[in-house]
Formats: sequence, C-alpha cells, structure tokens
Amino acid sequence: MTRRFTRRPSPGVYSVSCDACDFGLHAMPARAFVLGPEDRRLHLPLPFRPDSVERETGRTWGEIVRTSDVVVELAGVCLGCGDLNFILRDAVPKSGVLGADAPPCKSCGGRRFYPVVGDRVFEWPWKRRPPDGDDVCPRCGRGRLVTRFWAII
Ligand SMILES: [Zn+2]
Ligand SMILES: [Zn+2]
Repeated sequence: MTRRFTRRPSPGVYSVSCDACDFGLHAMPARAFVLGPEDRRLHLPLPFRPDSVERETGRTWGEIVRTSDVVVELAGVCLGCGDLNFILRDAVPKSGVLGADAPPCKSCGGRRFYPVVGDRVFEWPWKRRPPDGDDVCPRCGRGRLVTRFWAII
C-alpha cells in the first residue's frame, strides 16, 4: 500500500509524529523555488514575498508565474530513515502514488515516503490515516505516523 500525495498542498505547518515513540517533526507540506542565474534554486520565503526572487532574476513575479517557472516540491518523510525530503511535484506520478519509481531519499536512498499531507489528510487533517497505510514509524518500526495540523504561518 502506498500513500497518495496531494497535488494541491495548503499552507501551514503540520506535525508528523509516531503514536508509539518520540519520533516527530514539523514540516510544511510543500515548498517552491524558481530557477535563477546559473540554475541556482531561489527558494521562496514564507510568508510569501517575491521581492528577493524578482531581484535575483530581474523579472517580475507575474512574468515568472506566466512562464511556469515556479517549481513545487512536496514534503515526505522517508520511511527508511525518517529524514524529511522534498520531492519535485513533477516526479510524483499523476496518480499521486509513490512506489518504486519515487526519487531516492537524499539520506538513505530509500524510495518509500510518508507524505506530510496526502489526499485524505489534506481534506481532513484531524482524521487518522487509514489503518492499511504505508506509515510504519521509521524509528521504532512499531508505531504509525500521524499528521496533525499545527499552525498557520
Ligand atoms: Zn531515508
Ligand atoms: Zn515510533
């Protein structure tokens, strides 16, 4: 069973924690960047302010958006090592399911991720994920990961 990534992340900070041990982290469900000079990734600061990106690229935010130069990455917790990864949205298949074709974790090379916010959690952040999910805690291997809405930024 694999998790589905939402393709419309909402702003805000979520906590992901294990219901059996002290594993936990806070994360935004997504982040975005614009490719700048020499292919440098210019990450958009939050709360959203495009000024620095406009300065670096010499283009207005409107131009950047019109040419689809904003690259979105979705946050996922590696189920192998627990590290937070950001996965290019274009690398997530249309189905939203990440399996063997997922990009490798930057720390351990694993390809299984727990999306910080998935389809169902996006709509119902206070509900538990379904019990058949791919969400076994990477630290203790017994508990299940749970996402809770934490704060609006
Ligand atoms: Zn990993
Ligand atoms: Zn645990």
